[in-house]
Amino acid sequence: MRILFLGAPGVGKGTQAERVGAALSIPHISTGEMFRRHVGSRTSLGLRIEEILDRGDLVPDVLTVEMMLERLREPDTVNGYILDGFPRNLAQVHALDGAIGDYALDAVLVLEAPNEVLKERILARGRTDDTEASVSNRLDVYERETAPLIHVYRERGLVVKVDGTGEIEEITAKILMALA
Ligand code: AMP
Repeated sequence: MRILFLGAPGVGKGTQAERVGAALSIPHISTGEMFRRHVGSRTSLGLRIEEILDRGDLVPDVLTVEMMLERLREPDTVNGYILDGFPRNLAQVHALDGAIGDYALDAVLVLEAPNEVLKERILARGRTDDTEASVSNRLDVYERETAPLIHVYRERGLVVKVDGTGEIEEITAKILMALA
């Protein structure tokens, strides 16, 4: 299965994508994690993007798309994958369509939670880009650039919505049921 997880920062996408990937035996591919690894190991890409991540802005599409398309050519993706954090804007949707085909995704899982829950979870997690300014910027960027993708994928008949509030295990079970 090829599944895309969409949802606001703090909604639990990463946590759930990891658990659902393990349950379905497919890799969880997170652009945010890949970028953070580059920053941590101080690669040339990492040095270029460190400030962008700290501000909560989007990394330029050329860099993001190249890294992702390379990742999607790895052999562990043959039976599917969970995309977490990519695509995040329309240009990236088109790049993904060009690489795997417009109808290659099986489902787009949208996780939802009220803003208070998002902020609470982000502050509890304490990543280096979880400052107040960065968090509020990321919520804005999500609304402006990423939320419109829900509409695009709804028109393709792919959107499945799941309530992201409650216990981690419970949410995973709901997602697996929704995807079955
Ligand atoms: P995340 O772990 O998904 O919250 O992503 C952390 C940060 O990585 C984001 O705030 C962006 O700066 C960057 N990032 C992750 N995915 C993308 C993407 N698809 N396009 C551009 N920037 C991204």
